[in-house]
Amino acid sequence: MKREESEFAVIGGGLVGAAIAWGLARLGKQVAMLDEGDIAWRASRGNFALVWVQSKGLGMPAYAAWTRRSSDGWAAFADALGEETAIDVAFRRPGGFALCLSEAELEARAAAMHRLHNQPDMIPYPYEVVHRERLRALLPAIGPEVAGGIFSPLDGHCNSLRLLRALHAGLQRRGGKYLSEHVVDRIEQRQGMFALATSAGEVRAARVVLAAGNGNARLAPMVGLAAPVRPQRGQVIVTERVEPFLHHPMLSVRQTDEGTVMIGSSTEEVGFDDHVGAPVLAAMAARAIRIFPCLGRLNVVRTWAALRVMSPDGFPIYSQSMTHAGAFLATCHSGVTLAANHALVLPPMLEAGSLGTELAAFGGKRFDVSAHG
Ligand SMILES: Cc1cc2nc3c(=O)[nH]c(=O)nc-3n(C[C@H](O)[C@H](O)[C@H](O)COP(=O)(O)OP(=O)(O)OC[C@H]3O[C@@H](n4cnc5c(N)ncnc54)[C@H](O)[C@@H]3O)c2cc1C
Repeated sequence: MKREESEFAVIGGGLVGAAIAWGLARLGKQVAMLDEGDIAWRASRGNFALVWVQSKGLGMPAYAAWTRRSSDGWAAFADALGEETAIDVAFRRPGGFALCLSEAELEARAAAMHRLHNQPDMIPYPYEVVHRERLRALLPAIGPEVAGGIFSPLDGHCNSLRLLRALHAGLQRRGGKYLSEHVVDRIEQRQGMFALATSAGEVRAARVVLAAGNGNARLAPMVGLAAPVRPQRGQVIVTERVEPFLHHPMLSVRQTDEGTVMIGSSTEEVGFDDHVGAPVLAAMAARAIRIFPCLGRLNVVRTWAALRVMSPDGFPIYSQSMTHAGAFLATCHSGVTLAANHALVLPPMLEAGSLGTELAAFGGKRFDVSAHG
């Protein structure tokens, strides 16, 4: 069996691992990114591609600030990726809407935004409650039941499949290694080096970053960390391509840069099961048609389900090990939105060997007082 050695081993080749690995490679670090093969649980291949700020952070203002920072950094991040790889990840930030189908729904959503912005330590960001009449001028295609919505100019979207491809291409252009079919089974620290036992031989590295999505739950305790993440299923519908008519992304409907319309995404607690089901898809489609009746005339070309990586409180986990110096963990359920931070903000901290104070609130030990993360 062959043996690889590098400065950093990043476990997981999804959006979180790939963004971190590319960011480390840009800092001149030798990076090996270990991944499973084509068949794997991989949220990064099945998401809704929003770069979304509004409504994030109720219960943890630090998350709102972290999200906003990533959203603000996204344009420069997309440009840098484009320059290095010639892949356009189609990032746009025209502002986004969360649309409501009744006055009661609108009031509840507006109240939640109010609570979010009233939290101590919350750094407010721009948003407004838009009522039906004004909304009709902005989104002429809305149906008669739409009561209004919340708009934030900070919300955007991208092409997240191209994002994943660009991060992988960028990593490899910078000399980073992508080790597919390297399923990490065990991690041990010996004489200051991490030894990763994989299905394709041993990989050794001075530092290790656990970015294995739902796989982190099993790997984290091997380096004294905690990642009590669970899968949460989301189903998505995609229609045929049509002329651009939706110029803003929305929480459950968006038109992609390629012209298709995505309708999403359910939230289902079903464990490791990524099957689609007609009842959930039908409910999603029915709501989308009430919002935009013209969607009822479009052909559906594909549906799929993918598994989110969800922590107990829904917020990201960023930890460094107190028992295994040089081991770090990163996981979140908004890996598209946070990709700019993972690529540009996190890597200098990893290079310095310590996560910044900005990340103190995100440690894994908030879930378990006996954990060291
Ligand atoms: C339906 C849906 C809609 C979503 N919509 C959005 C959205 O609009 N905006 C947004 O920001 N986010 C969204 N997300 C979330 C986003 O997709 C995830 O946060 C992100 O993809 C997580 O990336 P990850 O790299 O942590 O995990 P994953 O993509 O799951 O990747 C984990 C990787 O680790 C590898 N791995 C696991 N175990 C091992 C091991 N032992 N050894 C080696 N490799 C291993 C796997 O093979 C995989 O490649 C959505 C997710 C879903 C499912």
